[in-house]
Amino acid sequence: MNYSIALLPGDGIGPEVVYATVHVLEALGAHYGHNFAFAEYLMGGCSIDRYGTALTDETLSACKAADAVLLGAVGGPKWDNPAAPVRPEQGLLALRKGLGVFANLRPVKVLPRLAISSPLKLEKLTGVDLVVVRELTGGLYFGQPKGRWKTDKGERAVDTLEYHDHEVRRILEMAFRLAKGRRNKVTSVDKANVLDSSRLWRQVAVEVGNKYPEVTLEHMLVDTAAMRLVSHPASFDVLVTENMFGDILTDEAAVLVGTMGVLPSASLGEGGPGLYEPIHGSAPDIAGKGIANPVGTVLSAALMLRYSFKLEREASALEAAVEQVIATGNLTPDLGGSASTDQVASQIIAVLTS
Ligand code: NAD
Repeated sequence: MNYSIALLPGDGIGPEVVYATVHVLEALGAHYGHNFAFAEYLMGGCSIDRYGTALTDETLSACKAADAVLLGAVGGPKWDNPAAPVRPEQGLLALRKGLGVFANLRPVKVLPRLAISSPLKLEKLTGVDLVVVRELTGGLYFGQPKGRWKTDKGERAVDTLEYHDHEVRRILEMAFRLAKGRRNKVTSVDKANVLDSSRLWRQVAVEVGNKYPEVTLEHMLVDTAAMRLVSHPASFDVLVTENMFGDILTDEAAVLVGTMGVLPSASLGEGGPGLYEPIHGSAPDIAGKGIANPVGTVLSAALMLRYSFKLEREASALEAAVEQVIATGNLTPDLGGSASTDQVASQIIAVLTS
């Protein structure tokens, strides 16, 4: 089969980890008889430098026309000015909106060798294998009205947390479908003791849950969830939540694994290309040194194989190869090894094609 992949390497270590992943995908394609056609575009700071905007209409159109999009990371000190009219992260928001991806999936699996670099005690981490499903296009970050106003009594600022039931339903559906292929448990995280939007969320969660009797649904307040993520992380399977709650909880969950470099993400909508990217940023402190950990991007590519191309066998094989290299290989310095980005990719390819 032929699959077209739009590459947005971005800034900093983005190109390093994306090119390493392209090598892995090419090797996987040759091994399993698939043809991946890559086309590369600028996004983020590099696009601002060239075109004056973080994402051009042409790049967005090309991404929409592809079967999937693989992104590295955007940003860096050169463009890190929150007051600047054009900023790299505007490209990310425009891309998510343009692709209509409303669900952000972040799997977190703690492998024994990773547990050593985690700030949590080893016994807390045994068996941690969870996915946070974050609603991405609604909630507090997009609700109207929002803004800042001068008033007689000083300045006033407003953000609005708004959801329509259909927005909640589609993300809950995704969470339940995901749980069915895993350990059959959904934790719906809200603040239903305070927020009306959360009470709607909880009601829809129950309605969707009734369609999946084999999946256990639990409701959890977001403050409790934040606590349990570090006190009992292994108790979670699929955790689904509102945009801002998810933003915070996904970063908290990332800490369970000792490095930013190994965690993947998938952003999905209804049909259309999915967007796949590691959760880390452009890591300016190590950019250009060839030592960035490519595992987060390679595992994002595995999610691409699974969700966009329905290549479950290949996705599982790639994940197994990564796990083997993490267990026995020479890793990048963030995990205590001395390997380069390309050497880690080569080890993954060797296991995959052996
Ligand atoms: P970061 O994720 O770039 O780096 C945090 C730390 O983790 C650094 O010490 C870095 O060296 C390390 N790290 C990250 N990825 C790694 C990898 N693959 N291998 C080894 N070590 C890795 O976060 P930051 O420093 O807060 O942000 C740097 C820039 O990235 C900023 O401009 C920020 O706006 C941007 N950013 C972009 C995204 C994105 O593109 N999605 C996400 C977060 C931050």
